[in-house]
Amino acid sequence: MDDHTKADIIIIGAGLTGLAIAHYLKKQDLKILILESRDRIGGRILTINNEGVTPIEMGATWLSTEHRALQQLLVEIGLETFEQHLGKTAVYEPFSTAPAQLVQLPHSDNPSYRVKGGTDTIIKTLATELSSQSILLNQTINKISLEANKVLVTSQDTTFESSIVVSTLPPLLMANTINFATPLPDGLMNLAKSTHTWMGDSIKVALSFKTKFWNAKELSGTIFSNVGPITEMYDHSNVADSQYALKGFFNGAYYHLSRQERLELVLKQLEKYYGAQVRDYLTYEELVWKKETSTATSSGQNILPHQNNGATQYQQSYLDGRFYIAGTETSPINGGYMEGAIQSALFISNQLENRKLNS
Ligand SMILES: Cc1cc2nc3c(=O)[nH]c(=O)nc-3n(C[C@H](O)[C@H](O)[C@H](O)COP(=O)(O)OP(=O)(O)OC[C@H]3O[C@@H](n4cnc5c(N)ncnc54)[C@H](O)[C@@H]3O)c2cc1C
Repeated sequence: MDDHTKADIIIIGAGLTGLAIAHYLKKQDLKILILESRDRIGGRILTINNEGVTPIEMGATWLSTEHRALQQLLVEIGLETFEQHLGKTAVYEPFSTAPAQLVQLPHSDNPSYRVKGGTDTIIKTLATELSSQSILLNQTINKISLEANKVLVTSQDTTFESSIVVSTLPPLLMANTINFATPLPDGLMNLAKSTHTWMGDSIKVALSFKTKFWNAKELSGTIFSNVGPITEMYDHSNVADSQYALKGFFNGAYYHLSRQERLELVLKQLEKYYGAQVRDYLTYEELVWKKETSTATSSGQNILPHQNNGATQYQQSYLDGRFYIAGTETSPINGGYMEGAIQSALFISNQLENRKLNS
Protein backbone atom coordinates (compact mmCIF):
# COMPACT_ATOMS: atom_id res chain seq x y z
CA MET A 1 0.00 0.00 0.00
CA ASP A 2 2.04 3.01 -1.13
CA ASP A 3 -0.66 5.60 -1.87
CA HIS A 4 -0.15 8.23 0.83
CA THR A 5 -3.91 8.76 1.15
CA LYS A 6 -4.62 5.13 2.11
CA ALA A 7 -3.89 3.31 5.35
CA ASP A 8 -5.06 0.41 7.51
CA ILE A 9 -5.70 2.79 10.38
CA ILE A 10 -6.08 6.56 10.26
CA ILE A 11 -5.62 8.40 13.55
CA ILE A 12 -6.91 11.96 13.62
CA GLY A 13 -4.66 14.05 15.87
CA ALA A 14 -0.94 13.78 16.71
CA GLY A 15 -1.31 14.53 20.42
CA LEU A 16 -0.29 12.14 23.19
CA THR A 17 -3.22 9.77 22.56
CA GLY A 18 -2.66 9.53 18.79
CA LEU A 19 1.08 8.96 19.08
CA ALA A 20 0.65 6.47 21.93
CA ILE A 21 -1.89 4.41 19.92
CA ALA A 22 0.69 4.18 17.11
CA HIS A 23 3.32 3.21 19.71
CA TYR A 24 1.23 0.38 21.17
CA LEU A 25 0.35 -0.93 17.68
CA LYS A 26 3.90 -0.77 16.37
CA LYS A 27 4.43 -4.54 16.52
CA GLN A 28 1.45 -5.11 14.20
CA ASP A 29 2.15 -5.04 10.50
CA LEU A 30 -0.18 -2.14 9.83
CA LYS A 31 0.06 1.03 7.83
CA ILE A 32 -0.88 3.80 10.25
CA LEU A 33 -1.44 7.37 9.11
CA ILE A 34 -1.76 10.21 11.63
CA LEU A 35 -3.45 13.36 10.35
CA GLU A 36 -2.78 16.54 12.34
CA SER A 37 -4.37 19.95 11.86
CA ARG A 38 -1.60 22.00 13.47
CA ASP A 39 1.83 22.64 11.97
CA ARG A 40 3.31 20.78 14.95
CA ILE A 41 2.73 17.55 16.85
CA GLY A 42 1.92 17.31 20.57
CA GLY A 43 -1.52 18.93 20.86
CA ARG A 44 -1.96 20.00 24.48
CA ILE A 45 1.70 19.19 25.16
CA LEU A 46 3.87 22.12 24.12
CA THR A 47 7.32 22.82 25.54
CA ILE A 48 9.11 25.99 24.50
CA ASN A 49 12.83 25.31 24.18
CA ASN A 50 14.95 28.46 23.96
CA GLU A 51 18.75 28.44 24.07
CA GLY A 52 19.95 29.03 27.65
CA VAL A 53 16.43 28.99 29.12
CA THR A 54 14.75 26.19 31.11
CA PRO A 55 12.22 24.25 28.99
CA ILE A 56 8.92 26.09 29.49
CA GLU A 57 5.75 24.01 29.57
CA MET A 58 2.78 25.79 28.04
CA GLY A 59 0.65 22.66 28.31
CA ALA A 60 0.88 19.45 30.36
CA THR A 61 3.55 19.62 33.07
CA TRP A 62 2.93 17.40 36.12
CA LEU A 63 2.33 13.73 36.74
CA SER A 64 2.13 11.66 39.89
CA THR A 65 3.16 8.17 40.92
CA GLU A 66 -0.53 7.23 40.65
CA HIS A 67 -0.34 7.83 36.88
CA ARG A 68 0.87 4.28 36.42
CA ALA A 69 0.32 3.72 32.69
CA LEU A 70 2.13 6.96 31.90
CA GLN A 71 4.95 6.12 34.30
CA GLN A 72 5.31 2.71 32.64
CA LEU A 73 5.42 4.29 29.18
CA LEU A 74 8.14 6.71 30.35
CA VAL A 75 10.25 3.79 31.58
CA GLU A 76 9.64 1.92 28.31
CA ILE A 77 10.82 4.83 26.15
CA GLY A 78 13.70 5.72 28.46
CA LEU A 79 12.55 9.04 29.92
CA GLU A 80 13.06 10.16 33.50
CA THR A 81 11.16 12.42 35.86
CA PHE A 82 12.13 14.77 38.68
CA GLU A 83 10.18 16.13 41.61
CA GLN A 84 8.46 19.50 41.36
CA HIS A 85 10.16 21.81 43.84
CA LEU A 86 7.55 23.46 46.05
CA GLY A 87 9.59 24.55 49.05
CA LYS A 88 8.41 24.69 52.63
CA THR A 89 6.41 27.89 52.22
CA ALA A 90 4.15 29.59 49.69
CA VAL A 91 3.25 33.19 48.95
CA TYR A 92 -0.46 33.37 49.71
CA GLU A 93 -2.72 36.30 48.83
CA PRO A 94 -6.21 35.72 50.24
CA PHE A 95 -7.79 39.20 49.74
CA SER A 96 -7.13 42.30 47.66
CA THR A 97 -7.33 44.39 50.82
CA ALA A 98 -4.52 42.59 52.67
CA PRO A 99 -0.87 42.10 51.70
CA ALA A 100 0.33 38.69 50.57
CA GLN A 101 1.69 36.49 53.36
CA LEU A 102 4.11 33.62 53.59
CA VAL A 103 2.38 30.40 54.72
CA GLN A 104 3.81 26.99 55.62
CA LEU A 105 3.13 24.25 53.08
CA PRO A 106 2.13 20.89 54.55
CA HIS A 107 4.32 17.91 53.71
CA SER A 108 2.92 16.01 50.72
CA ASP A 109 3.11 12.20 50.52
CA ASN A 110 2.16 12.39 46.87
CA PRO A 111 4.41 14.98 45.18
CA SER A 112 4.15 16.02 41.55
CA TYR A 113 6.84 15.16 39.03
CA ARG A 114 8.00 16.73 35.76
CA VAL A 115 9.65 15.07 32.80
CA LYS A 116 13.41 15.69 32.54
CA GLY A 117 14.08 17.85 29.49
CA GLY A 118 10.41 18.80 29.13
CA THR A 119 7.10 17.03 28.57
CA ASP A 120 7.52 17.25 24.80
CA THR A 121 10.36 14.72 24.99
CA ILE A 122 7.54 12.13 25.29
CA ILE A 123 6.04 13.41 22.05
CA LYS A 124 9.40 13.62 20.23
CA THR A 125 10.40 10.12 21.36
CA LEU A 126 7.10 8.54 20.27
CA ALA A 127 7.27 10.35 16.92
CA THR A 128 10.77 9.07 16.15
CA GLU A 129 9.40 5.50 16.28
CA LEU A 130 7.23 6.26 13.26
CA SER A 131 8.26 6.34 9.61
CA SER A 132 8.56 9.80 8.06
CA GLN A 133 5.33 9.36 6.06
CA SER A 134 3.23 8.38 9.08
CA ILE A 135 2.34 11.89 10.27
CA LEU A 136 0.89 14.53 7.96
CA LEU A 137 0.73 18.03 9.44
CA ASN A 138 -1.61 20.86 8.38
CA GLN A 139 -4.47 18.44 7.65
CA THR A 140 -7.62 19.73 9.32
CA ILE A 141 -10.19 16.98 9.05
CA ASN A 142 -13.66 18.39 8.46
CA LYS A 143 -15.69 15.46 7.09
CA ILE A 144 -16.02 11.73 7.79
CA SER A 145 -18.19 9.27 5.89
CA LEU A 146 -18.66 5.52 5.58
CA GLU A 147 -18.60 4.13 2.04
CA ALA A 148 -18.84 0.39 1.41
CA ASN A 149 -16.25 -1.07 3.80
CA LYS A 150 -14.06 2.03 4.01
CA VAL A 151 -14.11 5.21 6.04
CA LEU A 152 -13.37 8.38 4.08
CA VAL A 153 -11.73 11.21 5.97
CA THR A 154 -11.57 14.61 4.29
CA SER A 155 -9.34 17.59 5.04
CA GLN A 156 -9.27 21.00 3.35
CA ASP A 157 -7.50 19.54 0.30
CA THR A 158 -7.38 15.73 0.45
CA THR A 159 -9.63 12.71 1.00
CA PHE A 160 -7.99 9.82 2.85
CA GLU A 161 -9.29 6.27 3.06
CA SER A 162 -8.95 3.59 5.69
CA SER A 163 -10.59 0.47 7.17
CA ILE A 164 -10.52 2.00 10.65
CA VAL A 165 -10.49 5.60 11.81
CA VAL A 166 -9.76 6.80 15.33
CA SER A 167 -10.53 10.37 16.37
CA THR A 168 -8.42 11.71 19.24
CA LEU A 169 -9.96 15.18 19.23
CA PRO A 170 -11.55 16.42 22.44
CA PRO A 171 -15.14 15.11 21.90
CA LEU A 172 -16.63 18.63 22.02
CA LEU A 173 -14.27 19.76 19.25
CA MET A 174 -15.06 16.65 17.21
CA ALA A 175 -18.82 17.24 17.47
CA ASN A 176 -18.52 20.95 16.65
CA THR A 177 -16.06 20.83 13.77
CA ILE A 178 -16.42 17.52 11.93
CA ASN A 179 -19.30 16.90 9.55
CA PHE A 180 -20.37 13.26 9.86
CA ALA A 181 -21.84 12.68 6.40
CA THR A 182 -22.76 9.23 7.70
CA PRO A 183 -24.36 10.40 10.95
CA LEU A 184 -23.31 9.28 14.41
CA PRO A 185 -26.19 8.62 16.87
CA ASP A 186 -27.82 11.82 18.14
CA GLY A 187 -27.30 10.73 21.74
CA LEU A 188 -23.55 10.40 21.15
CA MET A 189 -23.32 13.82 19.49
CA ASN A 190 -25.23 15.43 22.37
CA LEU A 191 -22.95 13.72 24.87
CA ALA A 192 -19.86 14.97 23.01
CA LYS A 193 -21.26 18.51 22.97
CA SER A 194 -21.48 18.45 26.75
CA THR A 195 -18.11 16.78 27.40
CA HIS A 196 -15.58 18.98 29.15
CA THR A 197 -12.26 19.71 27.44
CA TRP A 198 -9.58 19.82 30.14
CA MET A 199 -7.77 23.18 30.25
CA GLY A 200 -9.55 24.43 27.13
CA ASP A 201 -10.14 27.79 28.87
CA SER A 202 -6.76 28.16 30.54
CA ILE A 203 -3.99 30.71 30.11
CA LYS A 204 -0.41 29.82 31.02
CA VAL A 205 2.25 32.45 31.69
CA ALA A 206 5.97 32.08 32.40
CA LEU A 207 8.93 34.36 33.05
CA SER A 208 12.52 33.16 32.99
CA PHE A 209 15.25 34.84 35.05
CA LYS A 210 19.04 34.89 35.45
CA THR A 211 18.81 34.31 39.20
CA LYS A 212 16.51 32.37 41.47
CA PHE A 213 15.70 35.32 43.70
CA TRP A 214 12.66 33.57 45.19
CA ASN A 215 15.05 31.17 46.92
CA ALA A 216 15.94 33.86 49.45
CA LYS A 217 14.82 33.49 53.06
CA GLU A 218 11.27 34.77 53.60
CA LEU A 219 10.39 34.17 49.95
CA SER A 220 9.01 31.29 47.90
CA GLY A 221 8.48 30.42 44.22
CA THR A 222 5.10 28.86 45.03
CA ILE A 223 2.24 31.33 44.79
CA PHE A 224 -1.48 30.98 45.48
CA SER A 225 -3.62 34.07 44.96
CA ASN A 226 -7.37 34.59 45.27
CA VAL A 227 -6.79 38.07 43.89
CA GLY A 228 -4.94 37.24 40.66
CA PRO A 229 -4.85 37.53 37.78
CA ILE A 230 -2.13 34.91 38.36
CA THR A 231 -3.97 32.32 40.46
CA GLU A 232 -1.12 29.88 41.06
CA MET A 233 2.53 29.80 40.13
CA TYR A 234 5.47 27.47 40.70
CA ASP A 235 9.22 27.29 40.42
CA HIS A 236 9.83 26.09 36.86
CA SER A 237 13.62 25.75 36.97
CA ASN A 238 15.27 22.97 34.99
CA VAL A 239 16.27 19.59 36.43
CA ALA A 240 19.87 20.73 37.01
CA ASP A 241 18.55 23.83 38.81
CA SER A 242 20.78 25.98 36.62
CA GLN A 243 18.14 27.82 34.55
CA TYR A 244 15.33 29.56 36.37
CA ALA A 245 11.71 30.42 35.72
CA LEU A 246 8.34 30.93 37.36
CA LYS A 247 5.34 29.48 35.57
CA GLY A 248 1.67 29.41 36.37
CA PHE A 249 -1.97 29.96 35.51
CA PHE A 250 -3.46 33.33 34.62
CA ASN A 251 -7.20 33.97 35.05
CA GLY A 252 -8.81 32.57 31.87
CA ALA A 253 -11.31 35.44 31.74
CA TYR A 254 -8.49 37.74 30.56
CA TYR A 255 -8.18 36.04 27.16
CA HIS A 256 -9.28 39.20 25.32
CA LEU A 257 -6.30 41.29 26.56
CA SER A 258 -3.20 41.77 24.41
CA ARG A 259 0.01 39.90 25.24
CA GLN A 260 1.55 43.20 26.36
CA GLU A 261 -1.38 43.93 28.68
CA ARG A 262 -1.17 40.45 30.24
CA LEU A 263 2.61 40.78 30.65
CA GLU A 264 2.15 44.09 32.48
CA LEU A 265 -0.40 42.50 34.85
CA VAL A 266 1.97 39.57 35.48
CA LEU A 267 4.83 41.94 36.31
CA LYS A 268 2.66 44.13 38.56
CA GLN A 269 1.47 41.12 40.56
CA LEU A 270 4.92 39.59 40.93
CA GLU A 271 6.37 42.98 41.82
CA LYS A 272 4.08 43.01 44.89
CA TYR A 273 5.76 39.81 46.14
CA TYR A 274 9.35 40.17 44.92
CA GLY A 275 9.96 43.84 44.12
CA ALA A 276 11.28 45.50 40.97
CA GLN A 277 13.75 42.69 40.19
CA VAL A 278 10.93 40.82 38.39
CA ARG A 279 11.25 43.37 35.57
CA ASP A 280 14.75 42.00 34.82
CA TYR A 281 13.25 38.89 33.27
CA LEU A 282 14.93 37.10 30.35
CA THR A 283 11.88 35.81 28.45
CA TYR A 284 8.12 35.97 28.79
CA GLU A 285 5.97 33.18 27.38
CA GLU A 286 2.20 32.81 27.40
CA LEU A 287 -0.44 30.68 25.77
CA VAL A 288 -4.15 31.42 25.64
CA TRP A 289 -5.62 27.96 25.07
CA LYS A 290 -9.12 29.29 24.43
CA LYS A 291 -7.78 30.79 21.20
CA GLU A 292 -6.31 27.47 20.03
CA THR A 293 -8.85 26.33 17.45
CA SER A 294 -7.37 22.81 17.43
CA THR A 295 -8.18 22.44 21.15
CA ALA A 296 -10.98 24.73 22.23
CA THR A 297 -14.39 25.53 20.82
CA SER A 298 -17.41 27.25 22.24
CA SER A 299 -19.92 24.90 23.85
CA GLY A 300 -22.79 27.34 24.29
CA GLN A 301 -23.50 25.76 27.68
CA ASN A 302 -21.92 25.58 31.10
CA ILE A 303 -19.87 22.37 31.25
CA LEU A 304 -18.34 21.38 34.57
CA PRO A 305 -14.72 20.22 34.86
CA HIS A 306 -14.45 16.57 33.72
CA GLN A 307 -18.17 16.43 32.88
CA ASN A 308 -18.91 13.28 30.83
CA ASN A 309 -15.24 12.29 30.73
CA GLY A 310 -14.96 8.53 30.29
CA ALA A 311 -18.66 8.01 29.43
CA THR A 312 -19.57 4.45 28.38
CA GLN A 313 -20.57 5.63 24.89
CA TYR A 314 -16.87 6.38 24.27
CA GLN A 315 -15.97 2.75 24.96
CA GLN A 316 -17.65 1.41 21.82
CA SER A 317 -17.22 1.73 18.05
CA TYR A 318 -19.46 3.41 15.48
CA LEU A 319 -19.95 3.48 11.67
CA ASP A 320 -20.23 -0.29 11.33
CA GLY A 321 -17.47 -0.81 13.89
CA ARG A 322 -14.97 1.22 11.86
CA PHE A 323 -14.86 4.45 13.87
CA TYR A 324 -13.51 4.89 17.41
CA ILE A 325 -13.51 7.96 19.65
CA ALA A 326 -10.31 8.14 21.70
CA GLY A 327 -8.50 10.94 23.56
CA THR A 328 -7.97 11.74 27.20
CA GLU A 329 -11.54 12.95 27.74
CA THR A 330 -12.87 9.50 26.74
CA SER A 331 -10.94 7.68 29.46
CA PRO A 332 -12.80 6.53 32.61
CA ILE A 333 -9.43 6.67 34.41
CA ASN A 334 -7.86 10.11 34.91
CA GLY A 335 -9.80 11.60 31.99
CA GLY A 336 -8.40 15.02 31.02
CA TYR A 337 -4.84 14.23 32.12
CA MET A 338 -1.88 12.67 30.31
CA GLU A 339 -2.64 9.44 32.17
CA GLY A 340 -6.12 9.49 30.61
CA ALA A 341 -4.54 9.86 27.15
CA ILE A 342 -2.36 6.79 27.76
CA GLN A 343 -5.27 4.81 29.22
CA SER A 344 -7.33 5.69 26.14
CA ALA A 345 -4.47 4.69 23.82
CA LEU A 346 -4.12 1.34 25.62
CA PHE A 347 -7.87 0.69 25.42
CA ILE A 348 -8.10 1.51 21.70
CA SER A 349 -4.93 -0.36 20.72
CA ASN A 350 -6.23 -3.46 22.59
CA GLN A 351 -9.51 -3.19 20.70
CA LEU A 352 -7.73 -2.90 17.37
CA GLU A 353 -5.02 -5.50 17.94
CA ASN A 354 -7.14 -8.56 17.26
CA ARG A 355 -9.25 -7.17 14.44
CA LYS A 356 -8.93 -8.19 10.82
CA LEU A 357 -8.26 -4.71 9.55
CA ASN A 358 -8.18 -5.08 5.80
CA SER A 359 -11.62 -6.61 5.40
C1 LIG B 1 -2.55 24.37 29.94
C2 LIG B 1 -2.62 22.90 30.14
C3 LIG B 1 -2.07 22.32 31.26
C4 LIG B 1 -2.13 20.95 31.46
N1 LIG B 1 -1.50 20.41 32.54
C5 LIG B 1 -1.48 19.08 32.70
C6 LIG B 1 -0.69 18.50 33.72
O1 LIG B 1 0.02 19.19 34.45
N2 LIG B 1 -0.73 17.14 33.85
C7 LIG B 1 -1.48 16.33 33.03
O2 LIG B 1 -1.47 15.11 33.19
N3 LIG B 1 -2.20 16.88 32.02
C8 LIG B 1 -2.21 18.21 31.83
N4 LIG B 1 -2.89 18.76 30.78
C9 LIG B 1 -3.70 17.87 29.96
C10 LIG B 1 -2.87 17.11 28.90
O3 LIG B 1 -2.19 18.06 28.12
C11 LIG B 1 -3.81 16.27 28.04
O4 LIG B 1 -4.46 15.31 28.86
C12 LIG B 1 -3.16 15.48 26.91
O5 LIG B 1 -2.09 16.17 26.32
C13 LIG B 1 -4.27 15.17 25.89
O6 LIG B 1 -3.77 14.44 24.81
P1 LIG B 1 -4.77 14.01 23.66
O7 LIG B 1 -3.94 13.45 22.58
O8 LIG B 1 -5.88 13.19 24.20
O9 LIG B 1 -5.46 15.38 23.16
P2 LIG B 1 -4.78 16.60 22.39
O10 LIG B 1 -3.43 16.85 22.91
O11 LIG B 1 -5.77 17.71 22.44
O12 LIG B 1 -4.62 16.04 20.91
C14 LIG B 1 -5.60 16.17 19.91
C15 LIG B 1 -4.88 16.46 18.61
O13 LIG B 1 -5.84 16.58 17.56
C16 LIG B 1 -5.47 17.66 16.71
N5 LIG B 1 -6.67 18.12 16.02
C17 LIG B 1 -7.68 18.90 16.50
N6 LIG B 1 -8.62 19.07 15.55
C18 LIG B 1 -8.21 18.39 14.45
C19 LIG B 1 -8.77 18.18 13.16
N7 LIG B 1 -9.96 18.69 12.79
N8 LIG B 1 -8.05 17.44 12.24
C20 LIG B 1 -6.84 16.91 12.59
N9 LIG B 1 -6.28 17.06 13.83
C21 LIG B 1 -6.97 17.79 14.74
C22 LIG B 1 -4.92 18.68 17.70
O14 LIG B 1 -4.12 19.65 17.06
C23 LIG B 1 -4.12 17.79 18.65
O15 LIG B 1 -2.80 17.60 18.20
C24 LIG B 1 -2.81 20.12 30.52
C25 LIG B 1 -3.37 20.70 29.38
C26 LIG B 1 -3.26 22.07 29.17
C27 LIG B 1 -3.83 22.68 27.91
